[in-house]
Amino acid sequence: MTKRDYYEILEVSKNATPEEIKKAYRKQALKYHPDKNPGDKTAEEKFKEAAEAYEVLSNPEKRSRYDRYGHSGVGSSGGFGGGMTMEDIFSHFGDIFSDLGFGGFGGFGSSSRQSRQSRQTNRGTNLRVKVKLDLEEIAKGVEKKLKVTKYVSCKECGGTGARDSSSYSTCSTCRGSGYVTRVTNTFLGQMQSTAVCPHCGGEGKIIAQKCTVCHGEGIVKDTEVISVKIPAGVAEGMQMTVSGKGNAARRGGINGDLLVLIEEEEHPQFIRDGNDLLYNLYVSIPQASLGAQIEVPTIEGKAKIKIEPGTQPGKILRLRGKGLPEVNSYGRGDLLVSINVWVPKNLSREEARLLEKLEESSNFKPSPGSSDKSFFEKMRNIFD
Ligand SMILES: [Zn+2]
Ligand SMILES: [Zn+2]
Repeated sequence: MTKRDYYEILEVSKNATPEEIKKAYRKQALKYHPDKNPGDKTAEEKFKEAAEAYEVLSNPEKRSRYDRYGHSGVGSSGGFGGGMTMEDIFSHFGDIFSDLGFGGFGGFGSSSRQSRQSRQTNRGTNLRVKVKLDLEEIAKGVEKKLKVTKYVSCKECGGTGARDSSSYSTCSTCRGSGYVTRVTNTFLGQMQSTAVCPHCGGEGKIIAQKCTVCHGEGIVKDTEVISVKIPAGVAEGMQMTVSGKGNAARRGGINGDLLVLIEEEEHPQFIRDGNDLLYNLYVSIPQASLGAQIEVPTIEGKAKIKIEPGTQPGKILRLRGKGLPEVNSYGRGDLLVSINVWVPKNLSREEARLLEKLEESSNFKPSPGSSDKSFFEKMRNIFD
């Protein structure tokens, strides 16, 4: 049987650019792809024919030999010759199929997904740790040293899992190609798909003599201290990703990430509301009545506040910028001081007498109207 002209197969001109050739091949491959033509032998032949043409025309050296001498110029060194298998095509031109968008073919989905699968680099799993912070640490930001038990690369074999460089042999399942072809019987007929070899994981070779320390895995468990900088203003439930600090991958892949989950300790004095802090201050009846200068704690020290004469319980004083910093920003919350009046419980005779005297004074009788007003004011402040 005489071979068809490679340019004719791909339907391109003799002076087509490499990009045009690639495009033309993709078009042919899409048309005759086994996923689209299950069990169709003619389509399979055309699919192989196109791959062979592309194999030569995409290689500048082979193309120029083909241009000068025709099929005989590339016949023996053409690589696949006439015996190109589907496996060869997928393993050589896998990248072309991967972006053909085969996922869109409805019913062919499952098998075409397999044929798009390519050799993947091992990736270590992510590691998740919790870190508990108090409000003072959150206010300033903190560097935490976390002791983490995780998989690290085996030092004995450098993460390869092999005893030494001569400890490898060719995988018998895929004969070194890293891919296997699967034929599935479906109601549409036989479907052929190519998948990464399950035996060698696509590497094409297996370790015959394993490293004695990690038993061929390339990783071992170890404890490592990892320093993590936590920015100011974080909150309970936030998660930070420290890339590459998770588990090492089997046999020299990419490390996973370390995920740091923030937990917040309850503060003995402050309640957190976003970036605002709430502080409950008790003043005495005389202080509330006469007014006073009072020192209150803040997250970073102390502040003086002025209690006006006649301050009602429930009044809220806002100390601007004395709250928590906004995470990764310049903003800062406020400190809200809620004022309460302390009512003593165990009175001496003397104290009771003084209070009875005050009770007789009309100025010490509660005024319902004004107390209602302050109640609404307080509620509005809280819901603001
Ligand atoms: Zn294999
Ligand atoms: Zn090892």
